[in-house]
Amino acid sequence: MLEDKDRIYTNIYGFETADLSAAKKRGDWKDTAKLIKKGRDWIIDEMKKSGLRGRGGAGFPTGLKWSFMPKDDGKQHYLVINADESEPGTCKDRDILRHEPHKLIEGALIAAYAMAADACYIYIRGEFYNEAVALQAAIDEAYEEGLIGKNACKSGWDFDVYLHRGAGAYICGEETALLESLEGNRGMPRNKPPFPAMAGLYAAPTTVNNVESISVVPTILRRGGDWFANLGRENNAGTKLFCISGHVNNPCNVEEEMGIPIKELIDTHAGGVIGGWDNLLGIIPGGSSCPIVPACDCDDLLMDFDSLKAVNSGLGTAGLIVMNKSTDIIYAITRLSKFYWHESCGQCTPCREGTGWIYRIMERMVTGDANIDEIDQLLDICSQMEGNTICALADAAVWPIQGLVRHFRDEMETRILEYRQRVA
Ligand code: SF4
Repeated sequence: MLEDKDRIYTNIYGFETADLSAAKKRGDWKDTAKLIKKGRDWIIDEMKKSGLRGRGGAGFPTGLKWSFMPKDDGKQHYLVINADESEPGTCKDRDILRHEPHKLIEGALIAAYAMAADACYIYIRGEFYNEAVALQAAIDEAYEEGLIGKNACKSGWDFDVYLHRGAGAYICGEETALLESLEGNRGMPRNKPPFPAMAGLYAAPTTVNNVESISVVPTILRRGGDWFANLGRENNAGTKLFCISGHVNNPCNVEEEMGIPIKELIDTHAGGVIGGWDNLLGIIPGGSSCPIVPACDCDDLLMDFDSLKAVNSGLGTAGLIVMNKSTDIIYAITRLSKFYWHESCGQCTPCREGTGWIYRIMERMVTGDANIDEIDQLLDICSQMEGNTICALADAAVWPIQGLVRHFRDEMETRILEYRQRVA
């Protein structure tokens, strides 16, 4: 279990205020100029040493991502922060924005300096009205105190932060759709390459990072990359905010060490599964797109990238959706299918047609009004969608279905047979 001395987010529950003086008492903005003056290479090396992997879902090493930005090209560079948190089951960035906004702004300054970006856009989902108000207040405070703006923190670096509110489309959480939306266009993902590090916002080199990835940067640099790397497990370093929802006694957000056993995480922080651990049906471990892990695989499961990959799922955003045996699992996954169908931007035929096709079949699977063959047809549609589209929304739409069939095929078949008996 994570010790309090290693906790990065000491005000994630908002027991203290989020304003600058309280943030400074918690250690934010301490010696920021000194960190900046250590230089770009030092910052990037330290981030690489920390082993931090992006906290937005993909888990790409953050320091390595920063190193892809061109050096000394004399061009405008941008840092864009993805605060469009829209993945069902995920609510970690929301609490950072509400209660720890100065960690994000300080992290943005340091990260932007490391990538020679003198402007940062924070793209926040439209529904996060209160969070946008809290964050803008923190940005204003930081300007007034000279922490950002001209000669930020007296570091010699000029740095501006702009907060941009989205309009509520899930797809704008995809980094290139987000950039399109920022530019005032419809939020539709771009073909890659070129990748944003080469041609991103306004065709300038851009790095897009998640809120959590950026807000942990100042603490990592102050305490050292080795400190962070020594938490968690090899290749799965550090601490992580976990969001635990569903059939637990105490749904919560909690910062814990990577690699914590999923059972310990739920029992210790979320009051356990409703009805007890033996009443568990399965867990979606990383936000709605991650395939469900059945109860039989959860007993010794660790919460990190590699352990979850080994059970054909993923850490994703670390948003756990816990389902006990009262769940109609076919209906639950169908609800997710409806979500992805609704959120498809429609550019790619496999995604535009496939998401709707899957949903229509799944609707009938809920009642059992389907043919057994259609279970394999679902898998066939999934295989034609996965990896064949511009962005990963199509993949996100098929993984829950693949997980359902992999672990609950018997239940799907039983429901179809029972329906036939009823109508015979
Ligand atoms: Fe749009 Fe879906 Fe294609 Fe992504 S995969 S670009 S959401 S149609």
